[in-house]
Amino acid sequence: MTSQGITVAIDGPAGAGKSTVAKRVAESLQYTLVDTGAIYRAVALLADERGIAWDDDAALGPLVLGLDINFRFDNGKNHVWLAGRDVTEAIRTPRISLGASSVSARPIVRDGLLALQRRLAGGRGAVLEGRDIGTVVFPEAPVKIYLDASDEERARRRHRELLAKGQPLAFEQVLAEQRQRDAQDQNRAVAPLKPAADAVRLDCTQLSIDEVVAAILTVVRKRGG
Ligand code: C5P
Repeated sequence: MTSQGITVAIDGPAGAGKSTVAKRVAESLQYTLVDTGAIYRAVALLADERGIAWDDDAALGPLVLGLDINFRFDNGKNHVWLAGRDVTEAIRTPRISLGASSVSARPIVRDGLLALQRRLAGGRGAVLEGRDIGTVVFPEAPVKIYLDASDEERARRRHRELLAKGQPLAFEQVLAEQRQRDAQDQNRAVAPLKPAADAVRLDCTQLSIDEVVAAILTVVRKRGG
């Protein structure tokens, strides 16, 4: 795949800065960007709209297999389209964050989304961000990054983002929901959040976005991307 680029897996907990960093890395390399968290969010949103509980495997199975999701760059922003509808904002509410974490613990959902994630990467240079890209979706990816930061710092960032979007939640609530999500993601039986054995681990509590992007690009170049 070297002439067309390589697969770059970026995993880590909520709020570590994966989205911003993955977008910058993809832009810089002119690679496809796949935000896999948005896919789990879209499943949670669609389930809500159809009155399906987030643990209803019998209904979630067909919903996942019929998922019509696409990503499109518009004005420097990665927009998420669900069956022809722009759901970029609708999937970012605190309720859908918890819903995404709940549906993502269901094996029927994870298995059903594997082929979709691999297809969206398209067999060419791609940056995928998520929780299990380096461990499950692309275990053979030549570049695996695990981005982390302290949980207070991650919650501070998420809190700022929500405020900027006009969703004024108390910081303590953001931190508590993030801890709940971290615990769900780390302790689930299937594909729990954890660094791949061969991942490059970056703690970005004290690093700027530019520094993290530069560090990842260095790894990509070393691996032939
Ligand atoms: O990254 P983001 O916060 O948008 O992800 C939403 C939720 O989707 C996460 O809390 C996690 O439970 C789930 N997820 C996952 N595996 C991925 C990406 C996201 O389980 N590869």
